[in-house]
Amino acid sequence: MRRQRKAKIVVTLGPSTSSPEAIRALFEAGADVFRLNFSHGTQEDHRRTHTILRQIEADLNRPICILMDLQGPKLRLGTFTEGSVELKRGDSFRLDLSPEPGDRRRAPLPHPEILSALVPGTDLLLNDGRVRLTVKECSDSFAETVVITGGQLSNRKGVNVPGVVLPLSPLTEKDRQDLRFGLDLGVDWVALSFVQKPEDVAEAKRLIAGRAATMIKLEKPAAIDRLDELIDQSDSVMVARGDLGVEMPPEDVPSVQKRIIGACRIAGKPVIVATQMLESMVHAPEPTRAEASDVATAVYDGADAVMLSAETASGDYPIEAVSMMNRIVTRVEQDPIYRRILGAQHHAPEATSADAISAAAAQVAHTLSTAAIVTYTTSGSTTLRAARERPEVPILCLTENLNTARRLTLAWGVHCVCTEDVRSFSQMVEKACAIACREQFATVGQRLVVTAGVPFGTPGSTNVLRVAYVSG
Ligand code: PGA
Ligand code: MN
Repeated sequence: MRRQRKAKIVVTLGPSTSSPEAIRALFEAGADVFRLNFSHGTQEDHRRTHTILRQIEADLNRPICILMDLQGPKLRLGTFTEGSVELKRGDSFRLDLSPEPGDRRRAPLPHPEILSALVPGTDLLLNDGRVRLTVKECSDSFAETVVITGGQLSNRKGVNVPGVVLPLSPLTEKDRQDLRFGLDLGVDWVALSFVQKPEDVAEAKRLIAGRAATMIKLEKPAAIDRLDELIDQSDSVMVARGDLGVEMPPEDVPSVQKRIIGACRIAGKPVIVATQMLESMVHAPEPTRAEASDVATAVYDGADAVMLSAETASGDYPIEAVSMMNRIVTRVEQDPIYRRILGAQHHAPEATSADAISAAAAQVAHTLSTAAIVTYTTSGSTTLRAARERPEVPILCLTENLNTARRLTLAWGVHCVCTEDVRSFSQMVEKACAIACREQFATVGQRLVVTAGVPFGTPGSTNVLRVAYVSG
């Protein structure tokens, strides 16, 4: 099964999409990467989902990319007896350490460290900034607040304290346990929430030890201040606009989004734009025009992937949301203006053999109107350099490493196939042609650009570009 677009779709799984049938329907509607959000659900829930995903992968013989998202030091409310409450301006509302489910008068806030950092007058933002409370009176175990902006609160909604620096470790004890669990399951990417400095990433990478690739979620102003160093440390990036737009003024988010995407495209690292992309589809079968435009903007910016959160995890129209996103991305990519924007933002290759070959491959693909670029890769690094070129044609990534195939499914324009390595030039051409035809990327009479490393079978040595003719 091939996609007719280059930018990828990441979906978050949750109660609305927990059955094998629902997950398979998401995949068929266009989901490329599945996010297991460890802010919600139990380890057993995620184990079950992981098993379902790997089963679908085996059934369809297509690598599936699984992204584990660690909660990080995100502050969250506990639960409510009724699941949710509506707060009105002027109401008093108490936050405390009691685990007892909350109601309209109080809710659990199981974070002693924030309660002790609060002072009267501190503002708390809840549910992605929709509800604002001001602290009136507080101690180490409770805060009495007054509601400044009313709205709905429900189980485990996030709490931001923008004005206060909280002494929080980037990996909580829960994150460490979840990380061990996820790595044992065999997730492909690990997303780190609320990173602020390069050392946060280094610590996580030490624990991950190459068993998965790392993604940083940019959702703190402090991280934006050290953007280039953080991108350098990580394998990919998420523009986590939910928390970012609470921690900084919403009007700053669009330009920060463009800045992050631009920096990732220079570095050649996959970048995801996330949160509220089709938010109204949580309860409606159609998005707003502004939401359609938001998804389109991320694609025009050249992002590798766009993401759905509540739309697919807990929404009423998860499949419709993926189909809609698929249609928006596909339509943008048919627009001649899209190519022009990508071209204008193209960055020169670095002085490496992989970059020189990748740039040449994109050029040859353009000049000869080839059907695809085929990259033989072990670690996937050359394929990412090919994606950095944002070529006009799809990139067919052939690798004998299943982990590489799964991970690179996130990257722009890349279709991965797991296959045995080749040993000679003739095998290299034959296999590229056969797989390109089988996967519906080429037909007889078309040409392909193929890149590989010679001598065959030695990683990290892409040094060959070959034009192959697909014969019958
Ligand atoms: P979250 O991260 O959904 O885990 O909060 C994304 C964001 O903050 O945008
Ligand atoms: Mn977040």
